[in-house]
Amino acid sequence: MVKVHSWGRLGNFDHQLHSLSDRSSVPYQLQQEPSGLAFGMGRSYGDVCLNPGGLLWNTTALDRFIHFDESTGRLRCEAGILLRDVQRVVVPRGWMLPVVPGTQLATIGGAVANDVHGKNHHVAGSFGDHVLEIVLVRTDGSTSVLHPGDARFAATVGGLGLTGLMTEVTLQLKRIHGPWLSVDTQPYQNLSTFFDLADGSEADWEHTVSWIDCVTGQGRGIFMRANHSQAQRELPKRARHLRMPVVPPVSLVNKLTLKPFNQLYYQLKKKRTTTLQHYESFFHPLDNLLDWNRMYGPRGFFQYQSVLPREHGREGVQAMLAQIARSGQGSFLAVLKTFGERPSVGMLSFARPGVTLALDFTNQGEKTLALFASLDDIVRDAGGRLYPAKDSRMPRDLFEAGYPRLQEFLSHRDPGISSAMSRRLMGS
Ligand SMILES: Cc1cc2nc3c(=O)[nH]c(=O)nc-3n(C[C@H](O)[C@H](O)[C@H](O)COP(=O)(O)OP(=O)(O)OC[C@H]3O[C@@H](n4cnc5c(N)ncnc54)[C@H](O)[C@@H]3O)c2cc1C
Repeated sequence: MVKVHSWGRLGNFDHQLHSLSDRSSVPYQLQQEPSGLAFGMGRSYGDVCLNPGGLLWNTTALDRFIHFDESTGRLRCEAGILLRDVQRVVVPRGWMLPVVPGTQLATIGGAVANDVHGKNHHVAGSFGDHVLEIVLVRTDGSTSVLHPGDARFAATVGGLGLTGLMTEVTLQLKRIHGPWLSVDTQPYQNLSTFFDLADGSEADWEHTVSWIDCVTGQGRGIFMRANHSQAQRELPKRARHLRMPVVPPVSLVNKLTLKPFNQLYYQLKKKRTTTLQHYESFFHPLDNLLDWNRMYGPRGFFQYQSVLPREHGREGVQAMLAQIARSGQGSFLAVLKTFGERPSVGMLSFARPGVTLALDFTNQGEKTLALFASLDDIVRDAGGRLYPAKDSRMPRDLFEAGYPRLQEFLSHRDPGISSAMSRRLMGS
């Protein structure tokens, strides 16, 4: 048994860990050990990737490129390869992953299983929209090849690893001119301006996102929008990554640091600028500090990410910000973003038309859980949903209300696979 935690470090749980490295032997291996859960990079914040007391199939040695057609941008690879490693091969050849989350230290399989979204949802949808084929192995030893349009494909995209283990994924990449993005950054003072900026940017800007100050409760923040650039610049030297060396005895994100940091960040960024940024620093700034999740101290942290339908978005986000400000909790890492109209492929995909708010919270036990209960009420009333990839505590009724295709999904589950999350939210 080895101790495994997810990104939120809310607990360190005993697991058996088996590494998969030869995709041809995966059907045999899964049949021999007919109960477990795929585990990629553990970049999910909560319990979707954990199976305490049970088995995890570590997929990160399934990391081979299988075929890349440079003329069409069609890539077939093993599911344990990191997004970073795909990008470093395809970007110099004029292609890019069409959707990327805030970290590139995640696997392709993890990105499909959570159907992750990026800053370009309004033009590109989520990760699953660009998947052309999945090779899925089930614990009965069977292998199926899934395509868009198949019910099992829709169950597997965003399927939280519960329909089988993906060994191979084929993706359609996006054409780009180079690794640079032209980035426009500007402050906003309230949520109305945020929505005006977001709506006004959707037609002409591929990537939009904003940082929001969760301390004031007023909804001020910094809006960023970007387009791929044709600029040819010398590539930046690959920065040596810093690492948060230890877990401090108390969280560094606390009442004393929260207010000054949010204030400082806003002041530093409040001048409107247009800059050229390398894709790694624009899309994945947090990857530069390895193990940054340690800064939340020994009790770890939660992320609370919701999406609210557009018609209730403004009031709902305002109400959540007010609750958060009143509670004195929150962090520097608060993101507000709109999703486009495109419906997601997956039965349990998170992304849906509306506005999404994501915030990290130091785990302060009951105090934090009480805040989440009040945020849950706002999400429930607005007809919204929470993101399983970030969750470790949402109530089952909120999950069921937020994911109306749950019953349809359940018929596609692999009976030999379960997670702490599936036991908590689906009963098995
Ligand atoms: C700094 C940071 C920023 C982030 N930003 C975003 C963001 O902008 N947008 C977003 O959507 N998410 C974001 N995330 C969440 C992250 O992208 C997802 O949790 C992603 O799924 C993690 O991939 P992983 O390889 O670590 O998978 P894990 O966390 O290890 O596993 C996630 C799920 O995938 C399943 N799985 C993994 N591999 C396979 C496989 N081969 N076959 C079947 N199932 C599999 C697991 O069983 C589990 O259910 C962020 C996370 C971090 C830490």
